[in-house]
Amino acid sequence: MTSPQVWDLYAIKYATMQERTRRDNFMVSDPHDDAPMPIDYFVWAAVSPEQTIVIDTGFDAEEATSRGRTLQRSVTEGLAMVEIEAASVADVIVTHLHYDHIGGHAEFPAAQFHLQESEMQYATGPHMCTHTLNHSFTVGHITDMVRHVFEGRVTFYDGASEIAPGITVHHVGGHTMGLQFVRVLTRRGWVVVASDTTHFYENMERIAPFPIVYNVGDMVRGYAALRAQADTEAHIVPGHDPLVLDRYPAPDARLEGVVVRLDVAPK
Ligand SMILES: [Zn+2]
Repeated sequence: MTSPQVWDLYAIKYATMQERTRRDNFMVSDPHDDAPMPIDYFVWAAVSPEQTIVIDTGFDAEEATSRGRTLQRSVTEGLAMVEIEAASVADVIVTHLHYDHIGGHAEFPAAQFHLQESEMQYATGPHMCTHTLNHSFTVGHITDMVRHVFEGRVTFYDGASEIAPGITVHHVGGHTMGLQFVRVLTRRGWVVVASDTTHFYENMERIAPFPIVYNVGDMVRGYAALRAQADTEAHIVPGHDPLVLDRYPAPDARLEGVVVRLDVAPK
Protein backbone atom coordinates (compact mmCIF):
# COMPACT_ATOMS: atom_id res chain seq x y z
CA MET A 1 0.00 0.00 0.00
CA THR A 2 1.23 3.47 -0.89
CA SER A 3 1.15 6.20 1.76
CA PRO A 4 -2.36 7.64 2.14
CA GLN A 5 -3.43 10.93 0.65
CA VAL A 6 -5.82 13.27 2.49
CA TRP A 7 -8.88 14.20 0.39
CA ASP A 8 -11.48 16.95 0.38
CA LEU A 9 -14.90 15.29 0.27
CA TYR A 10 -18.22 16.71 -0.95
CA ALA A 11 -21.83 15.53 -1.19
CA ILE A 12 -23.75 17.14 -4.05
CA LYS A 13 -27.54 16.92 -4.16
CA TYR A 14 -28.99 16.72 -7.66
CA ALA A 15 -32.55 15.45 -7.18
CA THR A 16 -35.31 14.82 -4.67
CA MET A 17 -38.65 13.11 -4.21
CA GLN A 18 -40.76 14.96 -1.67
CA GLU A 19 -43.85 12.73 -1.98
CA ARG A 20 -42.42 9.83 -0.02
CA THR A 21 -43.72 8.47 3.27
CA ARG A 22 -42.18 6.63 6.21
CA ARG A 23 -43.77 3.35 5.16
CA ASP A 24 -41.84 3.54 1.85
CA ASN A 25 -38.48 3.65 3.63
CA PHE A 26 -38.60 0.74 6.09
CA MET A 27 -39.18 -2.95 5.41
CA VAL A 28 -41.12 -3.36 8.64
CA SER A 29 -43.49 -0.42 9.07
CA ASP A 30 -47.08 0.47 9.78
CA PRO A 31 -48.83 0.28 6.37
CA HIS A 32 -50.85 3.35 7.39
CA ASP A 33 -47.80 5.42 8.34
CA ASP A 34 -48.04 8.09 5.67
CA ALA A 35 -45.99 10.72 7.54
CA PRO A 36 -43.75 12.50 5.02
CA MET A 37 -40.19 11.22 4.67
CA PRO A 38 -38.67 12.77 1.53
CA ILE A 39 -35.65 11.22 -0.14
CA ASP A 40 -32.73 13.15 -1.65
CA TYR A 41 -30.33 12.01 -4.39
CA PHE A 42 -26.60 12.70 -4.20
CA VAL A 43 -23.30 12.12 -5.90
CA TRP A 44 -20.05 12.47 -3.97
CA ALA A 45 -16.63 13.77 -4.97
CA ALA A 46 -13.19 13.24 -3.39
CA VAL A 47 -10.61 15.83 -4.42
CA SER A 48 -6.86 15.89 -3.82
CA PRO A 49 -4.29 18.24 -5.36
CA GLU A 50 -3.51 15.52 -7.95
CA GLN A 51 -6.76 13.68 -8.56
CA THR A 52 -10.55 13.83 -8.49
CA ILE A 53 -12.62 10.71 -7.88
CA VAL A 54 -16.40 10.88 -8.27
CA ILE A 55 -18.64 8.40 -6.48
CA ASP A 56 -21.74 7.46 -8.52
CA THR A 57 -23.23 9.22 -11.54
CA GLY A 58 -26.81 10.11 -10.59
CA PHE A 59 -29.54 10.06 -13.25
CA ASP A 60 -30.64 12.30 -16.11
CA ALA A 61 -33.80 14.26 -16.96
CA GLU A 62 -35.36 11.44 -18.98
CA GLU A 63 -34.99 9.02 -16.08
CA ALA A 64 -36.37 11.60 -13.64
CA THR A 65 -39.49 11.97 -15.80
CA SER A 66 -40.07 8.26 -16.24
CA ARG A 67 -39.70 7.60 -12.50
CA GLY A 68 -41.44 10.71 -11.14
CA ARG A 69 -38.38 12.19 -9.44
CA THR A 70 -37.53 15.90 -9.41
CA LEU A 71 -34.18 16.57 -11.05
CA GLN A 72 -32.98 19.88 -9.58
CA ARG A 73 -29.78 20.13 -11.60
CA SER A 74 -27.82 17.79 -13.82
CA VAL A 75 -24.93 15.98 -12.17
CA THR A 76 -22.64 17.90 -14.52
CA GLU A 77 -24.07 21.19 -13.19
CA GLY A 78 -23.80 19.98 -9.60
CA LEU A 79 -20.16 19.00 -9.97
CA ALA A 80 -19.36 22.30 -11.70
CA MET A 81 -20.42 24.03 -8.46
CA VAL A 82 -17.28 22.58 -6.86
CA GLU A 83 -15.10 23.23 -9.93
CA ILE A 84 -15.24 19.66 -11.23
CA GLU A 85 -15.76 19.10 -14.96
CA ALA A 86 -17.69 15.83 -15.26
CA ALA A 87 -16.63 15.32 -18.89
CA SER A 88 -12.96 15.11 -17.89
CA VAL A 89 -13.24 13.04 -14.69
CA ALA A 90 -10.96 10.00 -15.05
CA ASP A 91 -12.30 7.75 -12.27
CA VAL A 92 -15.85 7.06 -11.09
CA ILE A 93 -16.55 4.56 -8.33
CA VAL A 94 -19.97 3.00 -8.95
CA THR A 95 -21.45 1.78 -5.67
CA HIS A 96 -24.11 -0.26 -7.50
CA LEU A 97 -26.03 -0.25 -10.78
CA HIS A 98 -29.44 1.07 -9.68
CA TYR A 99 -30.75 3.83 -11.98
CA ASP A 100 -30.02 6.62 -9.49
CA HIS A 101 -26.35 5.64 -9.21
CA ILE A 102 -25.42 4.72 -12.83
CA GLY A 103 -28.03 6.67 -14.83
CA GLY A 104 -25.67 9.61 -15.41
CA HIS A 105 -22.75 7.56 -16.77
CA ALA A 106 -22.92 9.32 -20.17
CA GLU A 107 -21.90 12.56 -18.44
CA PHE A 108 -18.51 10.92 -17.74
CA PRO A 109 -17.18 10.04 -21.23
CA ALA A 110 -13.54 9.97 -20.05
CA ALA A 111 -14.11 7.86 -16.95
CA GLN A 112 -13.00 4.44 -15.89
CA PHE A 113 -15.81 2.89 -13.81
CA HIS A 114 -14.87 0.97 -10.65
CA LEU A 115 -17.39 -1.75 -9.84
CA GLN A 116 -17.76 -4.99 -7.88
CA GLU A 117 -17.83 -8.12 -10.07
CA SER A 118 -20.89 -9.43 -8.29
CA GLU A 119 -22.87 -6.29 -9.17
CA MET A 120 -22.38 -6.87 -12.90
CA GLN A 121 -23.34 -10.52 -12.43
CA TYR A 122 -26.47 -9.50 -10.52
CA ALA A 123 -27.54 -6.90 -13.09
CA THR A 124 -27.12 -9.30 -16.04
CA GLY A 125 -28.16 -12.61 -14.47
CA PRO A 126 -31.24 -14.60 -13.50
CA HIS A 127 -32.45 -12.26 -10.73
CA MET A 128 -33.25 -9.67 -13.41
CA CYS A 129 -36.08 -11.92 -14.65
CA THR A 130 -38.10 -10.79 -11.63
CA HIS A 131 -39.74 -7.37 -11.33
CA THR A 132 -39.26 -7.37 -7.56
CA LEU A 133 -35.48 -7.36 -8.04
CA ASN A 134 -35.13 -5.59 -11.40
CA HIS A 135 -37.37 -2.54 -10.96
CA SER A 136 -34.63 -0.22 -9.68
CA PHE A 137 -32.43 -1.06 -12.66
CA THR A 138 -32.90 0.49 -16.12
CA VAL A 139 -31.97 -1.95 -18.86
CA GLY A 140 -30.37 0.73 -21.07
CA HIS A 141 -27.92 1.65 -18.30
CA ILE A 142 -26.93 -2.00 -17.94
CA THR A 143 -26.44 -2.62 -21.68
CA ASP A 144 -24.34 0.57 -21.79
CA MET A 145 -22.19 -0.82 -18.98
CA VAL A 146 -21.77 -4.09 -20.89
CA ARG A 147 -20.42 -1.99 -23.79
CA HIS A 148 -18.08 -0.22 -21.35
CA VAL A 149 -16.79 -3.63 -20.23
CA PHE A 150 -15.91 -4.49 -23.84
CA GLU A 151 -14.29 -1.05 -24.27
CA GLY A 152 -12.04 -1.68 -21.27
CA ARG A 153 -13.68 1.08 -19.26
CA VAL A 154 -14.70 -1.01 -16.24
CA THR A 155 -12.30 -2.10 -13.49
CA PHE A 156 -13.72 -4.95 -11.44
CA TYR A 157 -13.16 -5.71 -7.76
CA ASP A 158 -13.97 -8.78 -5.70
CA GLY A 159 -14.24 -7.46 -2.15
CA ALA A 160 -12.21 -4.73 -0.45
CA SER A 161 -9.65 -2.88 -2.53
CA GLU A 162 -7.65 0.35 -2.68
CA ILE A 163 -8.70 2.68 -5.52
CA ALA A 164 -6.16 5.39 -4.70
CA PRO A 165 -4.01 6.17 -1.65
CA GLY A 166 -6.58 7.03 1.06
CA ILE A 167 -9.61 5.65 -0.84
CA THR A 168 -10.85 2.10 -0.46
CA VAL A 169 -14.00 0.26 -1.52
CA HIS A 170 -15.77 -2.38 0.58
CA HIS A 171 -18.25 -4.92 -0.75
CA VAL A 172 -21.35 -5.41 1.41
CA GLY A 173 -24.18 -6.61 -0.82
CA GLY A 174 -27.58 -6.55 0.86
CA HIS A 175 -29.46 -3.85 -1.07
CA THR A 176 -28.03 -5.34 -4.29
CA MET A 177 -25.70 -8.32 -4.69
CA GLY A 178 -22.63 -6.23 -5.43
CA LEU A 179 -23.21 -3.03 -3.46
CA GLN A 180 -19.99 -1.44 -2.22
CA PHE A 181 -19.36 1.54 0.03
CA VAL A 182 -16.36 3.87 -0.07
CA ARG A 183 -13.96 4.92 2.70
CA VAL A 184 -12.08 8.19 2.25
CA LEU A 185 -9.24 9.61 4.35
CA THR A 186 -10.01 13.27 5.12
CA ARG A 187 -8.64 15.93 7.47
CA ARG A 188 -11.11 14.65 10.13
CA GLY A 189 -10.14 11.01 9.67
CA TRP A 190 -11.73 8.10 7.77
CA VAL A 191 -15.16 9.03 6.45
CA VAL A 192 -17.44 6.35 5.04
CA VAL A 193 -19.63 7.23 2.06
CA ALA A 194 -22.25 4.56 2.71
CA SER A 195 -24.32 5.06 -0.45
CA ASP A 196 -27.24 2.63 -0.16
CA THR A 197 -25.65 0.53 2.57
CA THR A 198 -27.86 2.84 4.65
CA HIS A 199 -30.29 5.10 2.76
CA PHE A 200 -31.16 7.12 5.88
CA TYR A 201 -29.43 7.51 9.26
CA GLU A 202 -32.47 5.79 10.75
CA ASN A 203 -32.06 2.54 8.75
CA MET A 204 -28.67 2.02 10.39
CA GLU A 205 -29.51 3.45 13.82
CA ARG A 206 -32.64 1.30 14.36
CA ILE A 207 -31.37 -1.64 12.27
CA ALA A 208 -34.52 -1.05 10.24
CA PRO A 209 -33.74 -2.19 6.66
CA PHE A 210 -34.85 -0.28 3.57
CA PRO A 211 -37.48 -2.31 1.64
CA ILE A 212 -35.61 -2.58 -1.69
CA VAL A 213 -33.35 -5.49 -0.84
CA TYR A 214 -31.62 -8.52 -2.34
CA ASN A 215 -30.41 -10.08 0.93
CA VAL A 216 -31.70 -8.84 4.28
CA GLY A 217 -29.00 -10.58 6.32
CA ASP A 218 -26.24 -8.91 4.34
CA MET A 219 -28.04 -5.56 4.58
CA VAL A 220 -28.08 -5.80 8.39
CA ARG A 221 -24.42 -6.87 8.45
CA GLY A 222 -23.70 -3.86 6.26
CA TYR A 223 -24.61 -1.48 9.11
CA ALA A 224 -21.90 -3.11 11.25
CA ALA A 225 -19.46 -2.99 8.33
CA LEU A 226 -19.96 0.79 8.05
CA ARG A 227 -19.20 1.22 11.75
CA ALA A 228 -16.12 -0.99 11.46
CA GLN A 229 -14.63 1.19 8.71
CA ALA A 230 -15.56 4.67 9.98
CA ASP A 231 -13.60 6.49 12.71
CA THR A 232 -16.88 7.14 14.61
CA GLU A 233 -20.58 6.88 13.83
CA ALA A 234 -20.45 10.59 12.94
CA HIS A 235 -18.08 9.65 10.11
CA ILE A 236 -20.80 7.63 8.30
CA VAL A 237 -22.69 9.42 5.52
CA PRO A 238 -25.98 7.82 4.39
CA GLY A 239 -26.87 7.63 0.70
CA HIS A 240 -30.22 9.44 0.51
CA ASP A 241 -30.90 11.28 3.77
CA PRO A 242 -31.92 14.99 3.54
CA LEU A 243 -30.39 15.35 7.05
CA VAL A 244 -26.92 15.22 5.44
CA LEU A 245 -27.52 18.75 4.12
CA ASP A 246 -28.54 19.94 7.61
CA ARG A 247 -25.68 18.31 9.47
CA TYR A 248 -22.76 19.35 7.30
CA PRO A 249 -21.70 22.86 6.28
CA ALA A 250 -21.84 24.18 2.74
CA PRO A 251 -18.44 25.21 1.29
CA ASP A 252 -19.87 28.72 0.96
CA ALA A 253 -23.25 30.45 1.31
CA ARG A 254 -23.91 30.27 -2.44
CA LEU A 255 -24.01 26.45 -2.27
CA GLU A 256 -26.33 26.20 0.76
CA GLY A 257 -28.84 23.37 0.36
CA VAL A 258 -26.96 21.81 -2.57
CA VAL A 259 -23.35 21.00 -1.63
CA VAL A 260 -21.86 20.10 1.76
CA ARG A 261 -18.35 19.32 2.95
CA LEU A 262 -18.05 15.86 4.49
CA ASP A 263 -14.37 16.34 5.38
CA VAL A 264 -15.26 18.63 8.29
CA ALA A 265 -17.13 17.59 11.42
CA PRO A 266 -20.93 17.64 11.35
CA LYS A 267 -22.64 20.51 13.20
ZN1 LIG B 1 -29.96 4.81 -4.34
